[in-house]
Amino acid sequence: MKGTLYIISSPSGAGKSSLLKALFEQHNNDNSMYLSVSHTTRPPRPGEVDHVHYHFVSVDEFKNLINRNAFYEWAQVFDKYYGTSKELVQQALNNGQDVFLDIDWQGARQMRKMEPEAKSIFILPPSLEELHNRLVKRAQDSEEVIANRMNKAQREISHYNEYDYCLINDNFEKALNDLWCIINANRHSRTIIENNEKAILDNLLANYTEQNN
Ligand code: 5GP
Repeated sequence: MKGTLYIISSPSGAGKSSLLKALFEQHNNDNSMYLSVSHTTRPPRPGEVDHVHYHFVSVDEFKNLINRNAFYEWAQVFDKYYGTSKELVQQALNNGQDVFLDIDWQGARQMRKMEPEAKSIFILPPSLEELHNRLVKRAQDSEEVIANRMNKAQREISHYNEYDYCLINDNFEKALNDLWCIINANRHSRTIIENNEKAILDNLLANYTEQNN
């Protein structure tokens, strides 16, 4: 049984990375969850570790990977390249793992075309003012970068209506719980239960012949 692909997007600073990190910490024994690590040409921020947060590569290396058809999807965000490795994601999905992609709306569009069964979740900040506060508090980017990100935030937000689910990250613990509820509800969808719990369903319906009732 193939795993489910979850596409998670939000404007920068809405808390998507922190939510995903907390989700994986909470479920660290759950081998059925795989967090995809993207390639990027942007430099690491303080505290970011190569191959953990991103695979940090040069523009030449990135273009080389595009030419080798190594990406499921890729996009230019804030003038830098970002891409999702095809091989690792496909491998995880085929192993039955649920795969989580932290990608922008352009990547989300590309992924939906290739994986129409994917579930997409958009994380919204409670207000533009709060989004600005969070970007300033993060103190990882220059004033110029923050101004640029605020400009682009509304553009990203304008695509919320392409997603299956929307979360407002006002209270972190609540948003984390809401995120888990979406995943858990999806894991109980009939099609997934029919595939994963076939033995139970077969047992329950053994020797049953349909009657007109
Ligand atoms: P950041 O530089 O803040 O880590 O990420 C900037 C934006 O790039 C975020 O919206 C993030 O979701 C997006 N992003 C990260 N990895 C990928 C990727 O592999 N593909 C696409 N399309 N977007 C990505």
